[in-house]
Order: sequence, then structure tokens, then C-alpha cells
Amino acid sequence: MNDDADPGLEAIFRRLIGATGPISVAHYMAEANTHYYNRADPLGVAGDFITAPEISQMFGEMIGLWLADQWQRAGKPSPCHYLEFGPGRGTLASDALRAAGQFGFRPQVHLIEGSAQLRFEQRSRLPEAIWHDGLDSVPRQGPLLIVANEFLDALPVRQLVRAEHGWRERVVVHNGERFLPVAGARPMDSAVPAAFGDSPPGTILETCPAASGMAFEIATRLKAQGGTALFIDYGYAAPQTGSTLQAVRAHQKVDPFVDPGLADLTAWVDFAQLKQIALAGDVDCLGPVGQGDWLIALGIAGRAAALARTEPTQAQALSAALGRLVSPDEMGALFKVLAYRGSGWPQGEGFGGL
Ligand code: SAH
Repeated sequence: MNDDADPGLEAIFRRLIGATGPISVAHYMAEANTHYYNRADPLGVAGDFITAPEISQMFGEMIGLWLADQWQRAGKPSPCHYLEFGPGRGTLASDALRAAGQFGFRPQVHLIEGSAQLRFEQRSRLPEAIWHDGLDSVPRQGPLLIVANEFLDALPVRQLVRAEHGWRERVVVHNGERFLPVAGARPMDSAVPAAFGDSPPGTILETCPAASGMAFEIATRLKAQGGTALFIDYGYAAPQTGSTLQAVRAHQKVDPFVDPGLADLTAWVDFAQLKQIALAGDVDCLGPVGQGDWLIALGIAGRAAALARTEPTQAQALSAALGRLVSPDEMGALFKVLAYRGSGWPQGEGFGGL
């Protein structure tokens, strides 16, 4: 165990596994992340990882302009709610709402955030916001303009692994020295789609029931009360096999099964599944498109040039930030943007087909 590993969570997991047997990878990831996000602010250069809104104000501004455009073309409905899932430090929301406010878009602000520590950070930037534990308490009157940036990737994934004699859930044991993922004892063949039945031993199928459930709830709300949702995350556009679970600490990839609760655990978002859910929830789905293409279509290069004219000393930093956000070698291609559109809402900019 690392010196500053939290003995709390490690001890809890060891006791739980000792008393009731191995825990699922999903259970492990859920507890580890709850612990992680409540421990400290993980974002930024001094933290563990940097997200797009923390790279540059331009990211949140582009989202704000996108939302204001949607709202205007929908006939400026009032009341109207901005709702963000997992807002981190509140940077994206404050940049987006400042940019959107120039077009008269001043929605009520609702934030769904699990971490008390991050709620505190968000309150300093968004004092007027209303916090929620989930969608249930979010108003049912008036359209919802929803944003989730790097939120779905933090939700727990369930993994099934093809063992020698059939499919098993991937579970976590402790071998006396460390935590390890292994194939569980209970047969799980009935949970595997027929197309994967004959996969070779070692194949891993990863799903994210929490993300699927959340996306379906969002679709249901958009269908009932109108509005739109933007999901921005890293992930894959077509189904694939294999574990994508990863841990990042101090900007380095580390072993997800060492020091639980001290690193950010994420997994790739399955955008094909988000499209399926839109179909099931009867809302239109736009994308996914690469984050780079989307931001460029929205005019981020022009915004960078305008900012550089106002602050010439920042020109180099702005160009570097622009590169990180849009270049296919950085966040531009791996990160994707997908939108849900409630009935009667306009086609969103940046997805083609206008
Ligand atoms: N969107 C922000 C932060 C991304 S980090 C940004 O782009 O900078 C993930 C965010 O989701 C954090 O705010 C974290 O506390 C929150 N989060 C993770 N799992 C959650 C859950 N199950 N319920 C609510 N919030 C969660």
C-alpha cells in the first residue's frame, strides 16, 4: 500500500471482500470514485487531470453559444432550465452562461453533483444555482438544456469476461498483497448477446448500466418537456470488446486496482449505445462527431483570434489551447459530441445537415 493511500477505503474493501466474497468491478469503481471526488478537487494542473473547460474559456463559450442558438430558434421559451451533470469546478457553466447571456439567454441553473467538495467550488462561481442529487427533483415544467462533459466516463462499468467454460462477471479479489480483477464464479452466459457467445477466452464485454439508465431518463424528460442534451466525452462510436477501465493520478496513468479512491477511474463512453437509447426513448440523436470538428464548425478559431487581438501577450497560449481542444492528435478526435433533441427542437449546429 502506498504511504498516502487512504486506509479507509482499502480497509473497507478488504473487510467487505473477506466477509461477503469478491465485489464486482462496477461496485469497486462506483465506491472508489465516490470516495475520490469527495476527497479533494481533482482538477487542474496541480490536481490529477485537466478537462476541456479548464484548458480554455473558449470551450464553455462555444457551448454557451450553441445553447443560446438552440433557445432562440426554439422561440425563446420561458421558463427554461440549464442543467449540467458533474460540473466539476463550475468553469464550463460560468463560461457558457456568460456567453449565452449576451443573447438574452438567462435560464435557471441546475447542477447534479455528487461531491460535497466540488459543490462548494461550484457555489463560488455559480451562487444562483440549485443543486440536485439526481433528475427527480429537477423541474418538470419548461425545457431542459442539458450539458454533460466528462461525466458519463466516470460512471461505473460492468465487465463480463469469457472464462474457459463460459462467461463470468469480472470481480475484484484481494490476494493478501493487492486487489486483482478475476473471473467470478457465477455463470453469466445469459447476460451476453448471442453475437458474442463464441468469443475466445479472455474477451471482455464492458457496459455502463448507470450511463444507459441516465441517458434514458434524460431522453424521457426531453420528450416530455422539450429541450436538448449535449454529451461530450471520450469514447468509441462503434461497439468494441476489451476493458477500457483506466486510472489517472497526477496526470499519469496508474493501475486502477492499486490505491482505490486516490485516482480518477474512467472508462470509454459507448456512443453507439447512447444512439440506441435515443431510439428507445423516442428523441432525435445528432452525432457523434469529433470534438475538434464540432468546435471548428461553431467558430472556435475565430473566437481564439478575437481573444488574441484583445490580449496579444496571450496569443501563443490561446493557440496552444486551441490545438489541444481541436487537434485530432489531442482531444479533437477521441473526444466526441452527441446531442439528444426533444420534440420540436431545432437541429443543433455543428452536426451537419443544416
Ligand atoms: N464536467 C467537469 C468535471 C468532470 S469530472 C469538467 O469537464 O471539468 C466528473 C464530474 O462528475 C465531477 O464533478 C464529479 O464529482 C461528478 N460525478 C462523478 N460521478 C458522479 C455521480 N455518480 N453523480 C453525480 N456526480 C458525479
